Amino acid sequence: MSATLQFGNGKSAKVQTGLFINNKFQPAADGKTFAVVNPTNGKEIAQVSEASAKDIDVAVKAAREAFNTVWGYNTPGKVRGQICMKLAELIEANVAELAAIESLDNGKAFSIASGFDIPEAAANFRYFGGWADKNHGKVMEVDGSKLCYTRHEPIGVCGQIIPWNFPFLMMAWKIAPALATGNTIVLKTAEQTPLSALKFAELIEQAGVPPGVINIVSGFGPVAGAAISKHMDIDKVAFTGSTLVGRSILSAAASSNLKKTTLELGGKSPNIVFNDADIDQAVSWSCFGINFNHGQTCCAGSRLYVQAGIYDQFQEKLLQKYKSVNVGDPFAEATFSGPQVSQLQFDRIMSYIDSGKQDGAKVLTGGARKGNEGYFIEPTIFTGVDPQSKIAREEIFGPVLVLQKFEDEADLLRIANDSIYGLAAAVFSRDITRALDTAHKLQAGTVWVNCYNQLFPNVPFGGFKSSGIGRELGEYALSNYTNVKSVICNLTAPAP
Ligand code: ADP
Repeated sequence: MSATLQFGNGKSAKVQTGLFINNKFQPAADGKTFAVVNPTNGKEIAQVSEASAKDIDVAVKAAREAFNTVWGYNTPGKVRGQICMKLAELIEANVAELAAIESLDNGKAFSIASGFDIPEAAANFRYFGGWADKNHGKVMEVDGSKLCYTRHEPIGVCGQIIPWNFPFLMMAWKIAPALATGNTIVLKTAEQTPLSALKFAELIEQAGVPPGVINIVSGFGPVAGAAISKHMDIDKVAFTGSTLVGRSILSAAASSNLKKTTLELGGKSPNIVFNDADIDQAVSWSCFGINFNHGQTCCAGSRLYVQAGIYDQFQEKLLQKYKSVNVGDPFAEATFSGPQVSQLQFDRIMSYIDSGKQDGAKVLTGGARKGNEGYFIEPTIFTGVDPQSKIAREEIFGPVLVLQKFEDEADLLRIANDSIYGLAAAVFSRDITRALDTAHKLQAGTVWVNCYNQLFPNVPFGGFKSSGIGRELGEYALSNYTNVKSVICNLTAPAP
């Protein structure tokens, strides 16, 4: 099974559309498929195989067999690292095609997919490939009669469930650390955006990954996703998505085999601009902080607090800056934002915009659909927002900013931290003491100072509070995928 995709830049590509298990594409056990839709016009672009619980079983068996025979400690770290590096090279050699698939399927600008998403995914494989032979344990000193040391062993078969906002990059965030540390993988893509991962699957064998080590399936959350989270032979589940679904995954993991669970969930991140900030710098990053990826980022700076002394000037400049957020065809060069990913997301965001209006907030700019085809929404700013209203408290996952004025620094921290979420935050100030003091008091896994949305493969990312459990990226991510074993060896003959 395959589909030929036609891109908005005149090019095309063929993609295999089956389930990728044991390094082979195969149809679903019951032959089912589902439609993948182009968000710029709502039209079908491909049919892909739809995994059921039965297919997840087949994929898990393949992953278990590979773990027991060809991967894990059966392949030295050095070789696992070389394979990760090879995957990075293959991704880099195919950037244009992978980025075009990503733009077509997800709606993000081709310039951003080719300049950020795909190269950043390659950088993740390279970074974790470097760790593959370096993540070793320690020798502990006890008394002279014993030798004690730890081993960082792979956990086993890892189920990974990813979202649709950065389909390719989220896949890399999940696969690269798991692979480097010796685990085998059953990854389920988001039903809205399965295509770039299927293209990646075509590169897996070329990179020298043995059959069964990386299995990639397309399918729906409540069926294939749920089958992963409750599977008795999956040792670990890693999830990125909504807090609601994260809760159900944790509960399924707990009531099945207590599989280890890491979750990267939602956010409602505060972005704070003090009177002493460089206003132009703060305006630029704040605009980027909410509008990057059309607001479809878990760390979006969706609550913007600007201090009273500069508020009016800031608001005026922000409005000007918003004129540069070009919403349009993902393949047009000038486009910054494409459509939202799906009809469902479009409807969710529009209903938040309606609720803001009903709650008496003022639309400073935007507030409507853009055009009459596809899922395009105007970048929107609300002012005069009731801090207890839905748009001020709930994650919207779209280009909707709540702009608020604050006077008092001490009160601001209370307001900024008054959220169930704690994924990210930002502070703008030219006073290093104020900036860092605020950064340390914010309840968030990442705090940006005088910038926004800066992510690096070697810097950990994850949430406080209901924004998640565990950290992805960086050295910290290695512990998501390893069990620590203590070995205690008696060096003296006599028993106690
Ligand atoms: P969204 O609502 O924005 O689509 P989700 O959190 O629902 O975000 O989706 C993220 C990922 O979680 C997707 O791969 C989706 O298929 C999966 N998913 C959704 N529901 C479940 C579930 N009940 N169990 C496991 N995975 C799920």
